[in-house]
Parts: sequence; C-alpha cells; structure tokens
Amino acid sequence: MKILVINCGSSSLKYQLIDMVTKNPIGKGLVERIGLQGSVLTHRTGSGEKVVIKDEISNHTVAIKLVLEALVSPEYGAVQDLKEISAIGHRVVHGGEKFSTSVIIDDAVMEALKDCIELAPLHNPPNIAGIKACQKMMPGVPQVAVFDTAFHQTMQPDSYIYGLPYEYYEKYGIRKYGFHGTSHKYVSQRAAILLRKPLEELKLISCHLGNGASITAIKGGKSIETSMGFTPLDGLMMGTRSGTLDPAIVTYIQCRENYNCEQINDFLNNKCGALGVSGVSSDFRDIEVAAAQGNYRAKLALDIFEHDVKLFVGSYAAIMGGVDAIIFTAGVGENAPNTRAGICSNMDYLGISLDLEKNKVRSEEVDVSKADSRCRVLVIPTNEELMIALETLELTQ
Ligand code: ADP
Repeated sequence: MKILVINCGSSSLKYQLIDMVTKNPIGKGLVERIGLQGSVLTHRTGSGEKVVIKDEISNHTVAIKLVLEALVSPEYGAVQDLKEISAIGHRVVHGGEKFSTSVIIDDAVMEALKDCIELAPLHNPPNIAGIKACQKMMPGVPQVAVFDTAFHQTMQPDSYIYGLPYEYYEKYGIRKYGFHGTSHKYVSQRAAILLRKPLEELKLISCHLGNGASITAIKGGKSIETSMGFTPLDGLMMGTRSGTLDPAIVTYIQCRENYNCEQINDFLNNKCGALGVSGVSSDFRDIEVAAAQGNYRAKLALDIFEHDVKLFVGSYAAIMGGVDAIIFTAGVGENAPNTRAGICSNMDYLGISLDLEKNKVRSEEVDVSKADSRCRVLVIPTNEELMIALETLELTQ
C-alpha cells in the first residue's frame, strides 16, 4: 500500500509517497514559487537521485498535476500507475476545537476547515487549496486531514484558557491550541517503544526544537500542556519568533515604532527570537559558530534558548508530578549535542544524568542518558510525514 503525503504552503508544496510496508518514502520533493516567476519542482527518487523540473506552476492544481506526473515518470517515477496510490494524507495546520483527531475529508469537513481559516489565515487557505487540487486530480481517492493542533485537544481548560474575559474565548475562540502535535505524538509513541513501556504509563516531556520550537507535557500518551498558544508565536524564544513576552511590550513597541497590526505581527514573527538577540542569523548553526568566536550576543541567544527550555521542562515536570523521559527532536534537538548538554546540565533534581559520549549523536534514535539516570534522555528524529501516512492508513483501511 502506498500513501501520498501533502504539505501545502502558500507558495510551496512538499510531498512524500510512502510505501507502508517498508515505511520509507519511494519518491518525494518540493514545489517552490507556486504562482510566481521561476517556479520549480525538485523531485527525489527513493534512492535519492535528484530531478529538477522548471515549469510555469500557476496554482496548486498545476503543482499537484506535475507532482503526479513525476511520481509516474518511467525514468524517475515511483509507481507505474496512479492507481497504486491508495490514499492521500494532508497536513492541516489548524483544526480549532472542531478536530481532536485526524479525519477523512468529506463536504462537511471541508466546510469545517473553512470555518478554521480565521484562526490560521496564513496557513489554512493553502492547506485547503492543496486538498481541492488533489480532489480534482485524483477523484475517488480517499483523503485525510491531519491537524497540527489535534493532539493538544486533550488539554484541560485550566491549561488552555487565558486570563482574559471568558467571553473572548466564546466569541473569538481565543484559547491555547498548541502546534507541532503530529511531531509530539510521533516521538512520544517512539519513546514508548524505545523505553519498552506502555505509553499510558509514561510521563514524557517532548522538546521539538527546530526553527519553530515547542515543548509538550505528555502524560499517559495525552498532551496536557504545551508551550505554543493561540498561535505558534508563543512559548520558547525561536529562530525568528519572540516567544512569550510581557504582553505590554507589544503595545509599547507598536506605539514607539509606529507599527500597524500587520507590521507588529511581522516584527514579532520574523525579526525577533535568536535572530533579533544575536544579530547574526536565525540559524542555530551560524549562531553556534559566532558564539564560539566570542560573539557576546550569539552566546546570549544560545543561553536564553537553553534557559527557556529548562524553564518549561521544570514546570512540566511539576504539573505531571515527575518525568520519566525527555525527548529531543527536530533540527536543533536532533543535531545539536552542545545545546542538549546545556539544557540537561544541573538537572540532577529531576534525576537527569546525560552520557556525554552517547550524546554526540546526530539524527539517530538513541537513549543518550547514563545507565543509572532516573529520567531517560532520548534523541528521536521526528517524522511528521510518516505519522500523517500512518493516520491516513488507519482511517482509510
Ligand atoms: P523547521 O522545520 O521548524 O523549519 P527544523 O526542524 O528543520 O526547522 O530545524 C531547523 C533548525 O535546526 C535550524 O535553526 C538549524 O540551524 C538547526 N540545525 C540543523 N542542524 C544543526 C546542527 N548540526 N547543529 C545545530 N543546529 C542545527
């Protein structure tokens, strides 16, 4: 059985065709600059061979058509016939309170997805465009929506209601939703396998540390608290996002800099975080290099990031009444041993004892804590595409 996974952005589209027997991609790629000049499809075969297809890609339907043509190409395709693709799984950023699990897409779901647009005006419209394009190009093939927010719908009101008039929750849906749910769910399931314990018995803290970063407390397999909030701007300081601030700072900067709503939003999302503090880059690799060369602000950005993660880990252990394992995933979590070591230092009170030798790994599924560490420390490469494919398989089988 083969499942196509689609992740649509406003001008980009990522895809993977996954063989559900081996769980490996047999073809994958990226369409960039959809609707713009210079649009291009970069396709990779199962063995990693790269094919670049330059064409006019005016919208998501044209993009999907090109992707499907690439997947059946006699030269570099992955299947002989599109009939071999049994279902399509779509990443959808925001499912609001309507969706607490993945769902098979029908007309009622499409209507509900449109209702969620106002919660994620930048992300949900391209997700919907991708679904419509697939419905047009692959009629009759079941399609599933997998939401970034769904995993966090198990949070209780004392976690997700803000200190605002309750009417704002009722009127505008302002509450904590949380994001990266597909990743947190995937790594927590892998952690249970690695630890050889039922997920229902585990208290886990999952640290998804990439360009966007979030931390989730997972008790008995359920998300009970997470660092991102109403939007993915909240929580940890990230590559370019500020993370949690005193809310008064927002209006203060807005007045001082004469920013309108759009400008302050752009500022907080794209010009702050590690980029703003370091003045060097939003990429943690560049920041590490600059810090090693003695750049004070780069070192400060790394210190703030580690400090933020420690704060969340400590508070999440407090609300769960302990922690059995901490999981590191995503770009920084999987690849930055120094950052992991910094975060795990002075955490004896939680029973964390990192094995510095084992911790040298990158992008491997490994327990990097010492044999006698009461709390395990796990590096688990995330695989959101596989998780989307697995959920699609479960619903469509
Ligand atoms: P996103 O999916 O949110 O764009 P990723 O999970 O791909 O982000 O993570 C990107 C981040 O991971 C970048 O800041 C990058 O610097 C960081 N990263 C990748 N490799 C390394 C590495 N070897 N050391 C430190 N950071 C790394």
